[in-house]
Amino acid sequence: MVAQNHSEQSHKEKLDVLESTQTIIHEALTKLGYPEEVYELLKEPLRILTVRIPVRMDDGSIKIFTGYRAQHNDSVGPTKGGVRFHPDVTETEVKALSIWMSLKAGIVDLPYGGGKGGIVCDPREMSFRELEALSRGYVRAISQIVGPTKDIPAPDVFTNSQIMAWMMDEYSRIREFDSPGFITGKPLVLGGSHGRETATAKGVTICIREAAKKKGIALEGARVVVQGFGNAGSFLAKFMHDAGAKVVGISDAYGALYDPDGLDIDYLLDRRDSFGTVTKLFKNTITNKELLELDCDILVPAAIENQITEENAHNIKASIVVEAANGPTTLRATEILTERGVLIVPDVLASSGGVTVSYFEWVQNNQGYYWSEKEVEEKLEEVLVKAFNNVYNTAQNRKVNMRLAAYMVGVRKMAEASRFRGWI
Ligand code: GLU
Repeated sequence: MVAQNHSEQSHKEKLDVLESTQTIIHEALTKLGYPEEVYELLKEPLRILTVRIPVRMDDGSIKIFTGYRAQHNDSVGPTKGGVRFHPDVTETEVKALSIWMSLKAGIVDLPYGGGKGGIVCDPREMSFRELEALSRGYVRAISQIVGPTKDIPAPDVFTNSQIMAWMMDEYSRIREFDSPGFITGKPLVLGGSHGRETATAKGVTICIREAAKKKGIALEGARVVVQGFGNAGSFLAKFMHDAGAKVVGISDAYGALYDPDGLDIDYLLDRRDSFGTVTKLFKNTITNKELLELDCDILVPAAIENQITEENAHNIKASIVVEAANGPTTLRATEILTERGVLIVPDVLASSGGVTVSYFEWVQNNQGYYWSEKEVEEKLEEVLVKAFNNVYNTAQNRKVNMRLAAYMVGVRKMAEASRFRGWI
């Protein structure tokens, strides 16, 4: 019963997430002067495929998993976006996530539209062999609609470079030629890019640095709280620590840690498991709810959706909120924070470092010539500083909040491309 209530609750939240995104897209298009039919085209993905994937489990039984792949809009170029493995994945969520990918691609000006995939499963309870079978089964199920010039998957929540490697291998076998450009986030030896693993966190770091400049806050000594210790959160905590900031709070799905003098990030990184769990090792933990309301300068939600809501937005002490996760702040909470003078760097901007380096990986795969880590970092820096300032200046000039500004920047290219193609 509890589980059912929990899933009903999470289903409702995911519906809210899609509806909020649609509301802001509508507002952005109206501000840009586009007619209603542009919104009608862009409010939902062009395609969504639901697949059922049979997997033989280690105990000999067969389990059928449900998966999705959504392709929001391919007017600018092939669709692009990650695949998440999570028990709470829903079709609605995958739809919203694919729309966010389109916006991210628009904001950092990549030649892509947005796509997203998800499988309803709990990888924390699956063996390596079962995960491999599921990853390969998913690629077989969606192979008709994906490909290096159609739709290019990547890692997301609870998927990693090993899963990308299995998926790339399966796709290459189906097509009967080596296809590294089918997927990004691969291991280096299989055509991965330097800097891809840390790219999301690097992008967030650049956004934090730029936002701190605007707010006149020195990073050296600034108190930072990071919610979530997965790929984005853990590397980000490390980069902030290395930049001289004081990371006073971190969390995982089970709890949070707080130390006003700054946590020992290197130790925590060393002890975290591959799903980003670390707080179970400690006795004196606080809750995720308490974490968000801690006294700090910069708050980075880097976990899941709907974390800052109208219930806690008034209690947030940070003067900068940088969204490393997708959809952590509700519409109403965005209004409250903006009214209170908090600078929000929205998800579609702050978390776009990952897809930016994924694009670099795909370019390197297509040309068969690979770049150094330094080259990748310089290119990422250039792209994100430009994107941040573009969104910030749009917010200032059009007198809108940062989220609406980001949507205005993100949606424009897609709307123009759809128009030139004669779709609208
Ligand atoms: N899953 C990541 C995101 O949400 C990366 C997508 C990609 O690299 O294509 O942005």
